[in-house]
Amino acid sequence: MIKIEYPSVPQEYLDYIDHFKGKIKKWYDAGEMGNKAGKISLCDECKLLFRFLLKSDNLKKLLLLTADQLPVLINETERHFPVLKNDRINRPKTRSNLYLCLNKAFYSLGYCEPLFPDFKLTQALGLKACPYCNEEEIIVWDFEDEGLTIKNSELDHFYPRELYPYLAISLYNLVPSGKICNQGDCKHNKDTLVEGLKSPFELPDSEGFLFELVLDKGGITSYDTFSTSCGIETHVVYKDLYDNARVFRINLRYSTEMKQARRVWSLHKHCEAEGYQKMAAQKEKALGTTFTFDQWFESELDIIPHDYNKHKLSKLSMDIWRQLEKMRPVV
Ligand SMILES: [Zn+2]
Repeated sequence: MIKIEYPSVPQEYLDYIDHFKGKIKKWYDAGEMGNKAGKISLCDECKLLFRFLLKSDNLKKLLLLTADQLPVLINETERHFPVLKNDRINRPKTRSNLYLCLNKAFYSLGYCEPLFPDFKLTQALGLKACPYCNEEEIIVWDFEDEGLTIKNSELDHFYPRELYPYLAISLYNLVPSGKICNQGDCKHNKDTLVEGLKSPFELPDSEGFLFELVLDKGGITSYDTFSTSCGIETHVVYKDLYDNARVFRINLRYSTEMKQARRVWSLHKHCEAEGYQKMAAQKEKALGTTFTFDQWFESELDIIPHDYNKHKLSKLSMDIWRQLEKMRPVV
């Protein structure tokens, strides 16, 4: 689990809030939403809610609630509108009128409309790896001149829109993620509150999981026998991330990441060699400086330490490098 944060709220998102408020006004005045193919009338509860959202900055405030405030919003919403709690817990075949209205407004006519800046959100976070697992690569290509944008990631509704339709466009409910993390076996539409998941937006830092090479008795003796002489174990450092580890199957997924572990071990071995040490010492002398552990790591693995969002498997690599450094005999 890697912490993510916006440097500032993307302007495209702020513009979208204004646009969406205009749509709510139009629906409220007309008493209905949608086009001929799927027009629905606003139920009384929905009208009440829309009237509240149209007052001063209420819509903006709600859409910009931070990740740790979203459970409070859910509680308050379900307290005011108990039908939504029933829709969420029991998932009845026929959902309430309020659910249908909110799903239509926030999801079908909000999140799904081409004007919703989903690509810009992914781009503004600057991720190159899935924040849930740090295992899947995220690619965002923007050929603005040609009007072409490509991304291989999904914008996950941290609180699924099937259960929390009114959070379908909330900024801190949208987490760019890889496809594996967002599929049925992992997260998809599992109830976030029931599962007890933490959002990457809520984390204090990215040290919640620690990866360790567990060595057999004889230790690692060669590149060829690496995979049979050790394994990878995941430790959950932050207790409130146990459920994330379970739902995203972190231990199982990392137990097979032996190729990257071997690459880190191999590069570290290369750095341990006498020739390399001599060269490093000469370089330090010539430059009148001492390289820090982080600089050494960065130059060898091409991974920026602590900026785990920039490379997939970067946390695993950093942890193993750190472990091997501790095991290195002091000369
Ligand atoms: Zn992932």
